[in-house]
Amino acid sequence: MIQTLLLATSNEHKLDEVREILVPLGFMVEGLDSVGFSIPEPVEDGVTFEENARIKAVAYARAVGRTCLADDSGLEVDALGGAPGIHSARYSGVDGSRQERDAANNEKLIKELDGMSEEESRARFVCAMCLASADGRILAETRGEFEGVIVAQPRGGNGFGYDPHLFLPDLGCTSAELSSKEKNARSHRGDAVRQMAKMLESVESGSDGS
Ligand code: IMP
Repeated sequence: MIQTLLLATSNEHKLDEVREILVPLGFMVEGLDSVGFSIPEPVEDGVTFEENARIKAVAYARAVGRTCLADDSGLEVDALGGAPGIHSARYSGVDGSRQERDAANNEKLIKELDGMSEEESRARFVCAMCLASADGRILAETRGEFEGVIVAQPRGGNGFGYDPHLFLPDLGCTSAELSSKEKNARSHRGDAVRQMAKMLESVESGSDGS
């Protein structure tokens, strides 16, 4: 069974969320910052979350020579025809730090939804995960979703990205008002990682020793 996993991200929030589930199950999870050399970012030219997760997992697994887990995630808003979707990270552009981009993305989202009812602002986070071997084979794939509605007024200081705007009617709070444990218990990423953890048990350790 694989013991140490490389997660193809340098997003500390994603790393923390994935670690919170996999570490208690006996896995070590390392991010791209641990690799020790820089790897050119693959072109994410897929048209679905699944395709982009595959592109990332295969590219980084081959580049590092180790089994690699990648996640591609984003927000789908029904009234916007599924936008920002696979473009969630760069909805408002590519400039600035991650925090600055998050703020600009949220501002754009709320402008686009101006005047819409709660029903029309139904939305979900989606997470596609892919595990690839060092030689670029797809070993496992999973998908999770996290349903809510978009609220104009941001609430909460936890999480990242669009979390302060995804309101969860059954809980009466936004995703950013949940602790990471509470978010993981219901979120798109938590679900995809738990499914992946089950599949990891049956994936044989690669010759790369990961
Ligand atoms: P990725 O890094 O290409 O997968 O882009 C994911 C983008 O989708 C992030 O930059 C966020 O804007 C958004 N996103 C994905 N998952 C979450 C989440 O759990 N909370 C808030 N925003 C998220």
